[in-house]
Amino acid sequence: MSNSVCDSRRGIGSGLAFVVTGPSGAGKNSVIDRVIAMLPGLVYSVSYTSRPRRPTEVAGADYVFVSQQEFVQRIEAGDFLEHVTYLDDHYGTSRSQIEGYVDEGLDVILNIEVKGAKSLQKTDMGFIRVLYIFLTPSSTEELESRLRKRNTEDDSRIERRLEVAKLEMLELPCFDYLIINDDLDTAVQELASIIIAERIRVIR
Ligand code: 5GP
Repeated sequence: MSNSVCDSRRGIGSGLAFVVTGPSGAGKNSVIDRVIAMLPGLVYSVSYTSRPRRPTEVAGADYVFVSQQEFVQRIEAGDFLEHVTYLDDHYGTSRSQIEGYVDEGLDVILNIEVKGAKSLQKTDMGFIRVLYIFLTPSSTEELESRLRKRNTEDDSRIERRLEVAKLEMLELPCFDYLIINDDLDTAVQELASIIIAERIRVIR
C-alpha cells in the first residue's frame, strides 16, 4: 500500500478544552450547564475565586471559594493556567484540575472572561487543543436586563460589569466561534455542534 500523503497528520485523540468567553450576563453558565448534561465525556473546569459565594452557588461545583491570601499563594505556586482580577475579585483556572481531566480522557469546558481567554491563547497548553467560543446576546440592553434580573449585585457593580462588557465586545475577532445567545435552545445546540465537530476533526 502506498504511503499516505498526509504523513504530518497528528491524528485525533488529544485532549480538548472549550473556552467559553464573553461578557458577564451573556448566559455562559446556562448554556454550559445544558451542554454538559447533553454530551458525555465533557466536564466543567471549576475556577478558583476570592469573590464571596452567592446564596444559590455550591462550593466546589460553581467555584472553589478561597480567601485572597490563599489565591495569592496559589498564584505563587504556579497553580493557575490563567488568572485575572475582575472588578475587585480574583478568578483563576486550575492547571492541575484540567490536566487531571485530560489524563482521564475527558474534554473540559471553561467559563472565563475575555482577558483570561486571551492570556490562555499565549500559554503553552501542552497537548491539549483549545477552542475559543465567544458568547454574547445581540445587544447591550439585553445584557443589562439579564444582569439586573440576576438580582445579585447593586447598581454600581452592574454598571462596572457593563463597562467591562463594552470593552470585551471589541475582542470578538480574537476567537474561533461566535454564538449569539438570544435564544437559549439555539445557543445550546450551537455550542454542542461545535464540540461534536471538533471531537471528530482530523488535525493535520
Ligand atoms: P461571576 O462573578 O459573575 O461569577 O464571574 C465574573 C466573570 O468572571 C464571568 O465573566 C466569568 O466567566 C469570569 N470567570 C469565572 N471564572 C474565571 C476564571 O477562572 N478565569 C477568568 N479569567 N475568568 C473567570
